[in-house]
Amino acid sequence: MIPVNGGDLHINWQKELARAFTSPEQLLQYLQIDATPWQPGFKARRLFPMRVPRPFADKMRQGDAQDPLLRQVLPLGEEFEQVPGFVTDPLDEHDSALPGLLHKYESRVLLVVRGGCAVNCRYCFRRHFPYADNSPGREGWREALDYIAAHPEINEVILSGGDPLMAKDEHLDTLITDLEAIPHLKRLRIHTRLPVVIPARLTESLLQRLDQSRLQVVMVLHINHANEIDDELTARLAPWRRAGITLLNQSVLLAGVNDDTEALCQLSERLFEAGVLPYYLHQLDKVAGAAHFAVDDNTATALLAGMLARLPGFLVPKLVREIGGEHSKTPIDLGLEPNRH
Ligand code: SF4
Repeated sequence: MIPVNGGDLHINWQKELARAFTSPEQLLQYLQIDATPWQPGFKARRLFPMRVPRPFADKMRQGDAQDPLLRQVLPLGEEFEQVPGFVTDPLDEHDSALPGLLHKYESRVLLVVRGGCAVNCRYCFRRHFPYADNSPGREGWREALDYIAAHPEINEVILSGGDPLMAKDEHLDTLITDLEAIPHLKRLRIHTRLPVVIPARLTESLLQRLDQSRLQVVMVLHINHANEIDDELTARLAPWRRAGITLLNQSVLLAGVNDDTEALCQLSERLFEAGVLPYYLHQLDKVAGAAHFAVDDNTATALLAGMLARLPGFLVPKLVREIGGEHSKTPIDLGLEPNRH
């Protein structure tokens, strides 16, 4: 039985954050994997620190160095390879409207609520993002709120990061209250991976706050593999779904993690069982240090064709790529007749 007391859960998720693995040696020891062959790559932590909460490590297979969840977080020597086209700021994000506020799309703004994440994904497009210059903190939110209030074309605010759920519930409460006071806002979107790596982050108090909001709330999770969805996450998502919060998922297509049709179909099925709709499958953003995760477009479109043949259309995510400076995500043409099911 999963406890549902908001106070207890609140303590738990922060405790889990504090005891996350930051050493590859300790993580591999926990998983009973011989670290020797992987040792030379561990220095990639200097490029991007390692951080892996235990509930996420508990979803990895013991003794399997190729585990698809482990592969997403283990520093490897390949991160030092310099590959043409892979750069530190693949989406031209380092220039923002204000510190911590990106106004990329006309009707939506992205607010960097907190700089850090609970997990550091090695393929992250923001692994070089200068959070120190773009984490306005609660004082800086005021400037961002004034900007949003002065732009009536904005109807949706995307809370982002890092991971916005790294902020405490009481800070999110304050921010949500301020956003609700801006009359032209309709929707609040929360992009987060935190509940996937620490399901206890789905606290009762945050749910109650969002349930009371006049804004329509969408939570977009980031899940790349079916093994990331266990019974605990499914159980904790259920009341969010019952409260009418729209639950979507975006994944990144990653070599060695989910680049086969079976894995992608299993992911879609497991998402739906948890009440989450597959939304986007992203081609990797070409960030320096992550080239070994790249999947070429021909392979990607063949994988999507395989999904379309096996799944109902609503379980097939849109295959997209983000291009710096574009006003929306760019769909990747599958060259197929549309699925009519
Ligand atoms: S949770 Fe998202 S923002 Fe954070 S490291 Fe992973 S991919 Fe990057």
